[in-house]
Amino acid sequence: MSPPIALLSVYDKTNLLDLANGLHGAGVRLLGSGGTAKKIREAGIPIEDVADITKAPEMLGGRVKTLHPAVHGGILARSIPSDEADLKAQQISPISIVVCNLYPFTDTIAKPGCSLADAVEEIDIGGVTLLRAAAKNHERLSILSDPSDYAEFLAAWKAGNGDVGQATRSKLALKAFEQTAAYDEAISGYFREQYASSDLPAEKLAGSVQRMALRYGANPHQKPAQAFVTSGALPFKALCGSPGYINLLDALNSYALVKELSEALNLPAAASFKHVSPAGAAVGVELNEVEKKVYGVDDLKEPLTSLACAYARARGADRMSSFGDFIALSAPCDLATARIISREVSDGIIAPGYSSEALEVLVKKKGGKYCVLQIDPAYTPSDVESRQVYGVSLQQRRNDAKIDANLFTNIVTKNKELTNQALTDLIVATLALKYTQSNSVAYAYHGALVGIGAGQQSRIHCTRLAGTKADLWWLRHHARVLALPFKKGVKRPEKANAIDLFVAGEPLEGAEKTQWEALFETVPSPLTEEERRAHAAQLDGVACSSDAFFPFPDNVHRARRSGVRYLAAPSGSVMDAECVKAADEHGIVFAHTSLRLFHH
Ligand code: 5GP
Repeated sequence: MSPPIALLSVYDKTNLLDLANGLHGAGVRLLGSGGTAKKIREAGIPIEDVADITKAPEMLGGRVKTLHPAVHGGILARSIPSDEADLKAQQISPISIVVCNLYPFTDTIAKPGCSLADAVEEIDIGGVTLLRAAAKNHERLSILSDPSDYAEFLAAWKAGNGDVGQATRSKLALKAFEQTAAYDEAISGYFREQYASSDLPAEKLAGSVQRMALRYGANPHQKPAQAFVTSGALPFKALCGSPGYINLLDALNSYALVKELSEALNLPAAASFKHVSPAGAAVGVELNEVEKKVYGVDDLKEPLTSLACAYARARGADRMSSFGDFIALSAPCDLATARIISREVSDGIIAPGYSSEALEVLVKKKGGKYCVLQIDPAYTPSDVESRQVYGVSLQQRRNDAKIDANLFTNIVTKNKELTNQALTDLIVATLALKYTQSNSVAYAYHGALVGIGAGQQSRIHCTRLAGTKADLWWLRHHARVLALPFKKGVKRPEKANAIDLFVAGEPLEGAEKTQWEALFETVPSPLTEEERRAHAAQLDGVACSSDAFFPFPDNVHRARRSGVRYLAAPSGSVMDAECVKAADEHGIVFAHTSLRLFHH
């Protein structure tokens, strides 16, 4: 019987001589590509050149070394009569072991001054083919792609008299497949940068833009950073400015929210995001005169469009948190909406389009650096989403749960009167949770979020946080707040901060107090407890939704204190009955949704 054959072709020659020596000692016939054979031969170990079996010399300066039917026939042949007959007819010997690792493409492209030609030359062709072919035929063959596996393999080979067993061959095959996958990913990543990056001059761009270089990641020291897709084109483009990493997290999450809001409620929608959670989100429900004042749009010259109302509400839920927001609009931005945005401090916007007058207004923001993104409204993300945390890849089905009226049909309280308005508000609150860092609880009123508690580890803290925000939002409707005697020239953010201090009832001292008082013609007296109580009592009909079940009825009681009349949460708590009892105590309408909406 002819001896088993090992084909060796390695760039990284670590541990090579020990392996060659061991295989030779075990009676294996060695074949090697140019440099690999030379090194082994120089060490005094007998080895033949691949050219001896292909009868073809290496050519094209090493581009073709092992690419030959004599090699790949010997690797790919199965232990079946027809394959064996084919080998015999072509006088090809089967190969039992392939040892291969690849040209260091990643190291080469990382070198300063690496040219495109240098990179191209470093793309291993024959090696990848060896790895894939041998891994494909792992039922018969062993593929060694990692020098640290040689010693163990040799021991198994000797122990098994030339049979390392299927488990070893399978393990080695998987490793080889992972290597070719990573290798190809590095190559396509490099060419994405060379041919499909948004920062390329037009003449260098080959087809669609698949990649956007980002200044840095979540923090300035996290470089390099990029956004990309591996097929098709990026679904957005920058019309002005350049987005950062967190801008894109905000933009993509917020656009998904407004798109769904608008589809669910058949109205234009807007969101105001900060740190990857909404500070506000709303659909375009018309504003009454008081609301126009509360949201600071009573003095706008342009008539308020439905989209403008949506953004005014989204921005007005929590003006403090919305400072420097990332905005998403479900419909093309019009002039009225752009005018509202132009007066606010904001980081960027994403929308499916912009009227020319609106764009003209927006590109003037931030000294021409305002980030304006246009997204393709027809874009549909793939069903599976992946990311890496601490080097580990996580993958899941995208959260494509539909939030609409059907979610709120299981009403578990005595009061079952869910008005259309309440249904709209429950949809707004629940959809917002789908795109809010968990845990989260949201309150909504008149088609808008009015308080959100995001990213808290305890649910009652979410409910309280959202409730406090809703309380402050409602206090901003108080006649005395609307009439605060600000001096002329006080800027909008200063007013927002001053109003927030006033409604929060923060006790001020020293310079902070002096500065606050200096904003007014006459210093307003604080709201009394009685004024607060009387005003709070006027708020009713608020909707509240929770991204997971309420573990204790304290959440229900707290929600009621902020005017909540409609509640939605998944069931599943051991305290469900207690929570329903609490809702009944307050005459609340409580819908169990059986849909958890954690988002991270
Ligand atoms: P050697 O040092 O033996 O001359 O070359 C070993 C390297 O060549 C290995 O990294 C292997 O992946 C690669 N290689 C093997 N066959 C071919 C081929 O046909 N074409 C190219 N371009 N590279 C090959």
